[in-house]
Amino acid sequence: MNTQPLPSVADEADSIHDVLVIGAGFAGLYGVHRAAKAGLDVLGIEAGEDVGGTWYWNRYPGARCDVESIDYSYSFDADLQDSWVWTERYAAQPEILSYLRHVAERFELAERFRFSQRVVSAHFDEESATWLIGTDRGEQHRARFVMFATGCLSAVNKPDILGVDDFAGEVLHTAQWPADGVSFTGKRVGVIGTGSSGIQAVPIIAEEATSLTVFQRTANYSVPMPNRPLSAEERQQLREEYPARRAKCYYAPSATPYDSYPKAALEIDEDERIAALEARWRAGGVLFGKTFPDQNSVLAANDHARRFAEAKVWALVTDPQTAADLIPVDHPIGSKRICTDIGYFETFNRDNVRLVNLRREPITAITSTGITTTDASYELDTLVYATGFDAMTGALTRIDLRGARGKHIREVWAEGPITYLGMTIPGFPNMFNLSGPGSPSVLANMVLHAEQQVEWIVDLIVSCTANGIAEVEPRQDSARNWTDHVTEVADTTLFPQANSWYMGANIPGKKRVFMPYIGGFGNYRRMCDQVQADSYTGFVLTERS
Ligand code: NAP
Repeated sequence: MNTQPLPSVADEADSIHDVLVIGAGFAGLYGVHRAAKAGLDVLGIEAGEDVGGTWYWNRYPGARCDVESIDYSYSFDADLQDSWVWTERYAAQPEILSYLRHVAERFELAERFRFSQRVVSAHFDEESATWLIGTDRGEQHRARFVMFATGCLSAVNKPDILGVDDFAGEVLHTAQWPADGVSFTGKRVGVIGTGSSGIQAVPIIAEEATSLTVFQRTANYSVPMPNRPLSAEERQQLREEYPARRAKCYYAPSATPYDSYPKAALEIDEDERIAALEARWRAGGVLFGKTFPDQNSVLAANDHARRFAEAKVWALVTDPQTAADLIPVDHPIGSKRICTDIGYFETFNRDNVRLVNLRREPITAITSTGITTTDASYELDTLVYATGFDAMTGALTRIDLRGARGKHIREVWAEGPITYLGMTIPGFPNMFNLSGPGSPSVLANMVLHAEQQVEWIVDLIVSCTANGIAEVEPRQDSARNWTDHVTEVADTTLFPQANSWYMGANIPGKKRVFMPYIGGFGNYRRMCDQVQADSYTGFVLTERS
């Protein structure tokens, strides 16, 4: 491993790193580790004060991963995998953050990062074939290659509502939660947003607050998360199964070990269908979104799952109007990221909780004392935005990112993100984007996805270094073909029907295009491997002059 101490900032103007990694979440930590292990001189930069990425910022009450802990963890080191003890089936945010701190310590990664500085610019210098990266602290760093491990759900979306800055009470966003926590005792709390974050936070806030008003613009489907502690026996058994489980995940569509029901929903009778749906509902979480192989591609099949989920809401919520309001009316189930909750729908049976349906009474303004809608004024002490992210592209388009010939990423992606293999962009040589648009990303287990991409990228950098290649850049036609393929595969599904963040539809003015690659993680891995085996087809490799 490269154990060279970091240069001081004063030295930075002259030193050229092999690799800069931006972000210290799952992908960035592994990016730094893998690059260092390959003997490359690597520097990491992170906006937060500590490692963790998503799990550093999203500390809102109830934050918990919807992928099982034993799958949502690194596989690259057998000792790490065997020694870490997950206490629950679905890990909560603090436990995942502890895990990432442990990984950083174990592999001496934190010392390779500069923390508390946000990258604000990245310019490709054609003369030297290097990237010049600037931070909000005024530091500049130069490297031959750059990996953006900035996350696909990190650019915070705070809606532009009339009076948004006027509220005099406490203002919070789920993705920028204070490290010291928040007390809701004695408070009248309002939550705007009912996606995965809002749905997880609402039950916990309701238990503490004097009153909770949930402002819902679009109802979402949510499936209970069957969380429970993992016993020592269970952990031992899982350890024994790990090699086979991982081997399956590496080539599975979602990088998790679960298969859909072996028959299509439309091939079987009602009794068999209901039994399969019930089993999957009990298995819990996002898996319900793909109970049957035809559920996400055939509307009639999807309708069976949708009606089943709706019946659950009717059974859980006492007030019929509230139940009706909590049921989505505008998208097939699963075509927006299905949420997972612990007691979300039941929360609306509490006396201190009310639902405001913004489709019936839209917000007209935020005032100094609360929220005014077309029908009423809601007085609040605390306002929580659970309004999500400028997903998949926001982390890049919000900075001053310029490739060859000074082309800005915002220009290049104006008609939607164009990528080759979801990792590289024509006109942006020697730059890699992790879990970005055009990759399976959020449709797969993000940890194994990060490992696959990091390994592929580091192999490419090592190969370039060994062979005197100064620049690697995808051809325009290979990126066009890949991006068309991403769209074609999405068009065989129901996903483009929803106004989701997958489609960029949550951000006003953003091009409406399905961004993740839905062809399956295993297929994606095979295609990346093939490109590598064929000496990087689709790329232009330019030797040092
Ligand atoms: P989100 O799914 O985009 O939800 C944002 C919510 O805010 C939506 O209900 C949206 O309504 C609402 N909203 C936005 N602007 C609004 C406005 N101007 N007025 C009223 N409502 C507004 O964001 P998220 O909940 O943070 O989740 C994003 C993704 O992060 C998830 O889909 C998931 O992939 C990931 N995540 C995962 C977990 C987990 O593992 N359990 C937890 C949290 C997040 P509209 O739908 O009408 O736009």
